[in-house]
Amino acid sequence: MTEVIDGNAVAEDVRESLRGAIETLTDAGHQPGLATVLMSEDRASATYVSMKQRDCEELGIQSFHVEVDVDAPANELYDTVSDLNANDEVDGILVQHPVADHVDYEEVVRRIDPGKDVDGFHPENVGRLVRGDPRFRPCTPHGVQKLLEHTGVETEGADAVVVGRSNIVGTPLANLLARKADDGNATVTLCHSRTEDLAAKTKQADIVVAAAGVPELVDGSMLSEGVTVVDVGYNRVDGEAVGDVEYESAKEVASAITPVPGGVGPMTRAMLLYNTVKAASQRSGIDVDLP
Ligand code: NAD
Repeated sequence: MTEVIDGNAVAEDVRESLRGAIETLTDAGHQPGLATVLMSEDRASATYVSMKQRDCEELGIQSFHVEVDVDAPANELYDTVSDLNANDEVDGILVQHPVADHVDYEEVVRRIDPGKDVDGFHPENVGRLVRGDPRFRPCTPHGVQKLLEHTGVETEGADAVVVGRSNIVGTPLANLLARKADDGNATVTLCHSRTEDLAAKTKQADIVVAAAGVPELVDGSMLSEGVTVVDVGYNRVDGEAVGDVEYESAKEVASAITPVPGGVGPMTRAMLLYNTVKAASQRSGIDVDLP
């Protein structure tokens, strides 16, 4: 029987296990706070931001929100980031991607205080992760690791294939799975758009993580019996949410698989809350237990 990995349930577990830490911090006078910044007219981005605010509210994390007009000069966004860096009540800053076309998103990321960079995208935090001392793990890769852990999938010694090498998902995940750690120690193959014979790579894997943004790129014929499949992809096809894995055929051969929706998506949101609580603990010097 193939296990369908319930991302909603695991995310709920993560959220619940953060409650104690939030209470400890708040009682000690440092309620965690997350600031979201939106500079876009994209409706999906606005929805993501409002979901993140709602998540905060439910757990007793303060939320702050700033909207910057899409036509405003880049400096207005930089100034917003500077203000949030200086605001002591703000532990985490998330600038929703994408921002307006005339603004260099990478420059925005560089201006975020690395201690408040709950996305984990700042070059200092990327460097720390690669060196094996992550301050904040990027939310989606961290969510994938938590899903594997909750499912009891051993990464040590496993052959893991990550499909997609973005800075947000594939590359940090490949680093995390390969590093010397209980939830790492895998032998990782990082595949991308120039990979030749993707199926040959995925066929030899114990764990396949698909994060390419190509609907149903990985199907059952490309997998071996007993593989664990994590589908990060989220694509809209004829109004439907479709992953990067062809679910039905992959499920035939996998021992465990994440659905889309209800797999990785909820975990990304939960791990943002985790990073916000971690930032609050680090900034206040108040020790808390994190899951
Ligand atoms: P991206 O477009 O930045 O990167 C895609 C990567 O896939 C690139 O490195 C590219 O080389 C690789 N790729 C493209 N076509 C390929 C092919 N045919 N074979 C092998 N590799 C190929 O995308 P991203 O931001 O990493 O997102 C990937 C997917 O994950 C998207 O569907 C996105 O919507 C989804 N996503 C979901 C969540 C979530 O929380 N569920 C979070 C982030 C991204």
